[in-house]
Amino acid sequence: MNNLLIMTPGPTEVSEEVRRAMSKKITNPDLDPEFFDFYLNVSKKLKKVVKTKNDMIIMSGEGILGLESACASLIENGDKVLVLANGIFGSGFADFADLYGAEVTKWEFPDDKAIDSKELEKKLSQNNDFKFATFVHCETPTGVINPAEEICALLNKHNILSVVDAVSSIGGVEIDVDSWGIDIILGGSQKCLSVPPGLTFMSVSTKAWDLINSRETAVKGYYTNLQHWQNWYQKKNFPYTQAISDIYALDAALDKWLADKKVYYRHSRIAEALRKALSRSGLEIYADNGYSDTVTALKVPEMIDFQELNQHMTEKYNVMIAGSVGKFKNNIFRIGHMGENCYEEKIYRTLKALDQSLRDLGYQLKDKIYKVFVDQIE
Ligand SMILES: *Cc1c(COP(=O)(O)O)cnc(C)c1O
Repeated sequence: MNNLLIMTPGPTEVSEEVRRAMSKKITNPDLDPEFFDFYLNVSKKLKKVVKTKNDMIIMSGEGILGLESACASLIENGDKVLVLANGIFGSGFADFADLYGAEVTKWEFPDDKAIDSKELEKKLSQNNDFKFATFVHCETPTGVINPAEEICALLNKHNILSVVDAVSSIGGVEIDVDSWGIDIILGGSQKCLSVPPGLTFMSVSTKAWDLINSRETAVKGYYTNLQHWQNWYQKKNFPYTQAISDIYALDAALDKWLADKKVYYRHSRIAEALRKALSRSGLEIYADNGYSDTVTALKVPEMIDFQELNQHMTEKYNVMIAGSVGKFKNNIFRIGHMGENCYEEKIYRTLKALDQSLRDLGYQLKDKIYKVFVDQIE
């Protein structure tokens, strides 16, 4: 396991600096006044990543905690919630909204394409009585990225608040929360920021706070109740003891991210070269459009069993890629190229391992995947 390269779409590889930061001496985060300023400073760095002046909360728990907290804190029984879905995560929002008592309207779009904003515009012109809408920026299981700016413009036009799961895009794809008008955006530590799993973070607009604070009924939950996070700095009080070592790690990762002036360029250039290398070698990309710069999903070739391929790749070549989930479990496999994974040499090693593993299993490729990648990237 020691030298295993983890090229999955989260968790991603963690850098030496970030691992070192995790081992720093801790303090008592509830009592040490310096910790409040430190936390505030980390949240300011996150605000820079997504370009917002809104409040930014960092919570102890994986990305799902963020999704659930947004639903728990916004929804009262019978509230009308619109769920835009073109994949597993998008669709899963409906289950959370339902769990907290919403009257859910789910609009499904094809899962191998980005959500069509023209189609959405038509639907919204006929039906727009919703408290908020949810959608996923990057559908990680299929590698499809949705046009968040266009979707939010339409939602804003109809005064519908937006809750956006950008767990697998924040840090890898440019996002502008304030100019796109996103009310709640949420991310996780283990994707493009390349921090171990354990933290979720979200920005909350004034409009979203107003809704959360003007509820008639109590939030059904404590850990998921965002009300406890209002004015934490003024009150010098966190709802629970903060995962200090994880936040040290996040801080180090953000410093690295902020110092990298070409982070988006690196993601888009590598993603494009990777897609070309894979398709020119005869593999088939799952989606028809809306390719994400952070993850690529491929169809598992007819004669290949993905479990066997992955086992072969990890055992013989020390590189791990991912299958997919839900209904895509047996027919899609994925390479994560976000954050620390998104460097030429790691992609080269991955593509070489994939190429050789496919050949070892008897699959005929049209070209050497890693060679096409090098030609493309130069
Ligand atoms: C990773 C991810 C999450 C968090 O979910 P886990 O499956 O628990 O990692 C949520 N949304 C998206 C889009 C993700 O990629």
